[in-house]
Amino acid sequence: MERAKLIRPFMATTRPLAIAVGLLAAASAGGYVFSIEQMYRPISGGPASHPLTILITILLATALSGRRQVRDRRRSTVIAVLAIGICILRLWPGSGAAAVLASITPFNAMVAQDLKAGLRNSMGENTAIMLLLIASSIVSYGIRWIRSAQLLAFASLALPMVAVTGYAYGLPRFYGQMSMMTVTFGLPLGLAAAGLSANRSMLRAIFSPYITGRIARIQIALGYCVPFIAGFLIIRALNENSANDLFGIFVVAISWFIILLITVSSVIHERVDHARRHHERTLERSATQDSLTRLFNRRHFDLCFQAELQRSQRNGQPLSLIMIDIDHFKAVNDSGGHQTGDMILRAVAGTVKSHTRMTDTLGRLGGEEFGILLPDTDLESAAYVAESLRRVIESLHFDPWPGHDGRVTASFGCACRAMGEDGDELMRRADIALYAAKTEGRNRVSRARETSPDAGSTLLAGGNVGIEEGGWGE
Ligand code: GH3
Ligand code: MG
Ligand code: MG
Repeated sequence: MERAKLIRPFMATTRPLAIAVGLLAAASAGGYVFSIEQMYRPISGGPASHPLTILITILLATALSGRRQVRDRRRSTVIAVLAIGICILRLWPGSGAAAVLASITPFNAMVAQDLKAGLRNSMGENTAIMLLLIASSIVSYGIRWIRSAQLLAFASLALPMVAVTGYAYGLPRFYGQMSMMTVTFGLPLGLAAAGLSANRSMLRAIFSPYITGRIARIQIALGYCVPFIAGFLIIRALNENSANDLFGIFVVAISWFIILLITVSSVIHERVDHARRHHERTLERSATQDSLTRLFNRRHFDLCFQAELQRSQRNGQPLSLIMIDIDHFKAVNDSGGHQTGDMILRAVAGTVKSHTRMTDTLGRLGGEEFGILLPDTDLESAAYVAESLRRVIESLHFDPWPGHDGRVTASFGCACRAMGEDGDELMRRADIALYAAKTEGRNRVSRARETSPDAGSTLLAGGNVGIEEGGWGE
């Protein structure tokens, strides 16, 4: 949504910009028709916009003022291909191409007159290349080669920029004889060509409202302005100093400026990326962890459960599940308050964690209820683990508080996955075992009865589930 803030207005200027250039080019052509020289030669005695330049500009402006619909895009592509043909003809060496070009050049007589009078009026190679690049960009856009379209549009801007720099520095040779009028055609046409696809590829990144876009825009502005100003200062100083020395300083200064830009940008990027990585980790943790006990939350525990079940099914190794529920925890809360309850939950969770293997998966399944997944562990071993946990929890001593002696116990239900058994069923059996431990008097381990391999269907139907008392606790 936010991205549209910058891109939309830029894209919206494409058509008006192209139409304005088209009108300006038409006015230039009017200059030839009505013999108003300033219209095609803005600086008296300077270079003129050649009629062919004006013709191609009108073609490209027409192509760029089309709408984005497929039909318009096709028409624009055809017009741009025509413009490419004329540009290639201009760049083609030999007199044959020149003769063909002359035959399609309007106002040829006036051009000849200018040349006779020693005035400059030709379509320079730089102009031909600039228009060729813009036309190729339009064709690329037409065939959905967006990145090429943008690169070509960017490249086209380089030529009028050179001319602008030449005019600003007062270096006639530098601006390659490009007429100011042609510069005025080329720059907006190049921008309009780029604007066709500003919501995609490289331009999308530059126009991004986020930090990367902001850095890119500042760097583009600095990357152009600083060398431009440095160059200007050097040109002015050239009269007094040796050109070689100044050129060396210029190269070194610009290289260091580029290095500085990159360094500043990488520092900012790293800072932003570091914060992003940190947020990502925090987010990931909060999505998988229970904030109170730092054990896996129910959602993540279930995911691990599914993964372990599949692994156990694949390799035929046993998988056990222990369900733990703290006994009379309500009484802890009621007598000691919620904070004491929380502290005990954290302590029990920490104790369970420190007494289980790395490969076991621990989760807080609800209030004061925990689950442990034990891969490659049969029922007997799981019950053994549960029993040792029962003992450590029993041996935890908290400072007594009014109405409570500060001792907690927990009940355990263990089950081992039977052949063909799914997660829900395994959990149900462990839960039933836990319930049995509670009803049998709490602070004890209860095992779900192991089922025979062919008992899977009976299990799923919800029958044939039995409990054996653990017999470890008392
Ligand atoms: P039983 O031995 O049958 O399990 O009894 P119990 O009191 O432990 O079980 P019951 O389910 O009645 O109560 C569980 C209590 O755990 C009730 C609830 O307030 C408390 N509890 C659940 N989540 C939290 C928590 O995050 N922090 C605290 N302090 N208490 C919690
Ligand atoms: Mg409970
Ligand atoms: Mg409880």
